[in-house]
Amino acid sequence: MGSFWDEDPQLGEVIVPADRLQARVAELGAAITADYQGRPPLLVGVLKGAFVFLSDLARAIDLPVDFDLMAVASYGARTTTSGVVRIVKDLDSDLAGRHVLVVEDIVDSGLTLSYLRRYLLARSPASLEICSLLVKEGCQVPRSELRYVGFTIPSVFVVGYGLDVAERYRNLPEIRAFVGQAPGD
Ligand code: 5GP
Repeated sequence: MGSFWDEDPQLGEVIVPADRLQARVAELGAAITADYQGRPPLLVGVLKGAFVFLSDLARAIDLPVDFDLMAVASYGARTTTSGVVRIVKDLDSDLAGRHVLVVEDIVDSGLTLSYLRRYLLARSPASLEICSLLVKEGCQVPRSELRYVGFTIPSVFVVGYGLDVAERYRNLPEIRAFVGQAPGD
């Protein structure tokens, strides 16, 4: 059966199909389960984009995990970075002594991540690792700073599986290129 999204002219190529997303999330969950034995992580989801990945990933981790959420914004309704990262919602938990695993949707320029790293490290976690579902080709962040990566994708603007344009497409079950005009561009 066709889907509503099939009719959307703003959606381009499928970059990661839904079944590959689910299979990779299961693998990441298994790797995290193995790595965090005896030191359950505090998952810090970076809103809004990571909420779909976070909820699937958390259920693929066979450990008692705790959750916290942060919201940062750098893009607004446009498809290019504003170059400014700002915290829209801060953490509720004390990170001191915790094994913090940041769950990100996508790393593009790495600006958001480098800001987050500095911000979170200042709160004295016992460890800090990053899990990003997607990393764009050409991203300048050293691979050693990204402990878990789902997929490396071409440097195109993508939507789906939590990622939006002006709040749309977050419930698209796959990752697709966005080939339309964003409202703020
Ligand atoms: P960075 O700071 O690494 O350039 O960008 C990170 C943030 O920008 C991500 O957390 C995400 O919110 C947004 N972003 C980067 N690339 C894309 C993209 O291709 N699609 C969407 N929807 N958001 C993106």
